[in-house]
Order: sequence, then C-alpha cells, then structure tokens
Amino acid sequence: MAAQDIQSRILIVEDEEAISTLVKYNLEQEGFTVYVADDGEEGLLLLKEKKPDVMVLDWMLPGMSGIEVCRQIRRGQETRNIPVIMLSARGEEDDRIRGLDCGADDYITKPFSPAELIARVRAVLRRIRPALADKTLEFLDVKLDASSHHVTRKGKDVHLGPTEFRLLLYLMEHPGRVFSREQLLDSVWGHDIYVELRTVDVHIRRLRKALEVDEGLPDLIRTVRSAGYALEKPEAA
Ligand code: CA
Repeated sequence: MAAQDIQSRILIVEDEEAISTLVKYNLEQEGFTVYVADDGEEGLLLLKEKKPDVMVLDWMLPGMSGIEVCRQIRRGQETRNIPVIMLSARGEEDDRIRGLDCGADDYITKPFSPAELIARVRAVLRRIRPALADKTLEFLDVKLDASSHHVTRKGKDVHLGPTEFRLLLYLMEHPGRVFSREQLLDSVWGHDIYVELRTVDVHIRRLRKALEVDEGLPDLIRTVRSAGYALEKPEAA
C-alpha cells in the first residue's frame, strides 16, 4: 500500500453494478475510500458533497452522458481541478481524443483489470500531489503558485485542469529546454503507465487555449518539429 493512497478518496460513476462493485472492492483493498454513484446526476451531487481526490467516470450512463458530466465538472468553480479518468467500451482513437478534449485526464477502455485502474489512479494522484509543494514560479507574464494551484497571465486568472497544471509547472521549472513527448510523458504522467504520445499534444493544445493563445496573446510554448515542446519567450512580431 502506497502512503499516498491512505485516505485518498475516489468517486466511481458507473451504472454497471458488476463493474462498480469489483472496482470498489479492489480500491478499498488498497486503502482508498470509495464512493459509488450509478448515474451522472448522483455523481455530480456526490462530487460536491464528498470532494473526492479522483473521479472515475463511465462514458455510457443512463440520462446524462459521461462526456456531459465531465464538461460540467470542468465548468464548475469548485470542481474544475478534480482529476477525471474516463471509462469506455469504445476503443476508437477519435473517442479517446474526444474523451480527453472534454476535460478528462486519462481514458481507460473496457474491459480493464482492477490492477490497471489502480495504476492509473495512482499515476493521477502522483501528478497532483507534488504540485502541493510550496512554491511560486514566474515566466514572463505567467505566474504560478504551486501551493494554491493558482495561475495568472497578465494578472488574469488562468483556469487549468490538473494535467495542464502539472505540464505548465514542469515547463516553468525548465524554461527554454526542449522536451520530447516521451520525456514529458515520463515526467508529467509517470513512466510506469501507458499513455499514447498524442495525449501530450492534446494537453499542450488545452494549455495553449487556457493561456489564451487563441485570444491573441503570444504563444509561450514553442513546437519544435520532430523534437517536442519548449517554454520560450516568443519572438517579437
Ligand atoms: Ca455504462
């Protein structure tokens, strides 16, 4: 049992009782506290009430879909930083990207083993916990407070999901250095879990959007062709 698991609280939103019972049992064996909801509405209620550390969310739910639940979580002031792992019977690459685009941090295709889910949950927890260290970083007009998870650009709040936060934190710790997608996966996601390289691109895209690159602010992340990404001062226009 890893020390970080103790008292970590996991919310499972899954309508298939056989799956939620199995997952709950296995997570509890590992020392996690587990809550279960069998539809999206109940999931959102439990999320506010129990404030879990990680949410495991099924895509196909009666009523509100997992994708819609995930969108609502990311829109909510109090809930937007909660890591979400999506479960899906779909294995198509487009679905994976859609799942990640709606704000999920990870995506697991059914059928999966409890051990695989536990590994993913732990990886997500590792990603969010180091960020609790007490430190503040600055890069040009971006300020990041690691203890409060507060990020601003030009003094305006920047709203980031947990993975984008870790990614930005990592880049801000090493400004100017070019990282390959593999290096970013190892450092930000953890090297013992399998995540596709394209996942890095999805999160970089989300990070750029959150930093309002779409709204005309200079892009601080340079894409280095066939090499990776770097946090750099943009060239003067
Ligand atoms: Ca389902």
